[in-house]
Formats: sequence, C-alpha cells, structure tokens
Amino acid sequence: MEKKLKRVRGLVVNKYPYRESSDVIVLFTDEYGKIKAVAKGRRKPGSRLGAALENFCLSEIVLYLSRDRELQIVKEAQLLDPHGELTRNYKFLLGASYVSELLERGTEVFSPNRALLELALSSLKLIPEAVDLKKLLAAFLLKALSYLGHMPVLDRCVACGSREKLLYFSVEKGGVLCANCPKSADDSVMLGARGISELQRILKMPMDRLNRFKADSDLLFDLSVKFARHHLEIPDLFARKVDI
Ligand SMILES: [Zn+2]
Repeated sequence: MEKKLKRVRGLVVNKYPYRESSDVIVLFTDEYGKIKAVAKGRRKPGSRLGAALENFCLSEIVLYLSRDRELQIVKEAQLLDPHGELTRNYKFLLGASYVSELLERGTEVFSPNRALLELALSSLKLIPEAVDLKKLLAAFLLKALSYLGHMPVLDRCVACGSREKLLYFSVEKGGVLCANCPKSADDSVMLGARGISELQRILKMPMDRLNRFKADSDLLFDLSVKFARHHLEIPDLFARKVDI
C-alpha cells in the first residue's frame, strides 16, 4: 500500500467524532473529489487542526493519502476561506447544509468533479446575499445534478420528442413533457411555457445572475429536491432538514 503526502484544496462538507479525541473530516477536494480523512487529536485543546477543518471551510490540506484506504490522514491544514458569513444566520447555515449534503452523499470517493466544487463554492458565497434562498438552492441542485450526469431534458418532450408546447415536467422521466403527453408520467407537474423557459435559463446562467428570474421558487425547489433524490437514488436525501 503506497502512502503519499499530498497537498489539496478542499471544502469541509462534514465531520464526525472519531475515537477519543479525533475527528473524521469529509472533504470535497479539487484533485480527488470526496475523501475522508482522520484529523488526529483534533478535539484536544490547542490542536493545530482546529479552525481550518470546521464545516464549510475551504482549506489547503496536507494529507497522507492512499487509495487503498477508506480513511486518509490529515497532516496539516491551513484555512483559505471560512465562509464565515454563513454563521451569521441559521437560515444561511441551513441553506449551506443542502450544498454540503449533496457533495457528501451524492458523490463517490475519488471521483473528482471540479465544476461541482466551483459550483458549491460560488453557491456558498451567494447564500448570505440571496434574495430568494429556495431559488438559489434549486439552481444549485439542478446544476449539480447536471455535473453529476443527470441533466434534466428541457428542449424536447421526453415521451414523444416534440419540441413544441413544452408545458409539463416529470421528475421520474427526467425532463419536460409536451401538451399531448402529460399522462405519460404519473408525476407530471404543470410548469407552463414560462416555467420551462425559466428552467432552461437557470441551467445555462451562472449562479450570480439568478436573481433576475421570477420563477415560482417553492415549486422549483420542491422539484429539484425530488429530482436529486430520484436520480441519485437517495430517497432520504435532505430528509432530516426542516423546511427552509
Ligand atoms: Zn410529447
């Protein structure tokens, strides 16, 4: 088993107490995607591994890394950005926890996805200033699902292929349905032509330009959560969260 010293940039997406005084840190890194690493003695007073390994911190971490092991070992950690604004408000933290849960539960270890990491970082930055948090999270989820290979089909009916009169959306079928096909899915929801075109624009636009849209954010958020659960095959994803 080859163990190498590696320096990575990573977002802390979760941590768990481990043995007497250590923590297991779940990181989403630029080079390796999700990895889990032990921060030895982190819960002892005065540990050098304290601040840089809190949830939502972006840090530079030196690790002993071996792909054969489930748990890597943190040697050093240096804080790059604590995303401290998130701690100002419970709602911000709740919003951020959707981002981190998606990265933790929706990805496999050692599956790098830089686009997903950058999306997560820009979303965390935008949460404290979001006019409509549900819309921001819906956009994050739909974009994240796209980066994970589950892009919703929005330019043609998933049942008949028509590009005309696209009015409905089906989570289970993974995209839109035309005026003739709502019955081809049990879960089709009427979004209307305007709702569908908002969805198309949300997928194309960068996160920081989303405030221009006037889509029904409750409906969009609900659909995007269902879409993530269904296509990632994690029925209880976000299930333990209170309503946002
Ligand atoms: Zn159709």
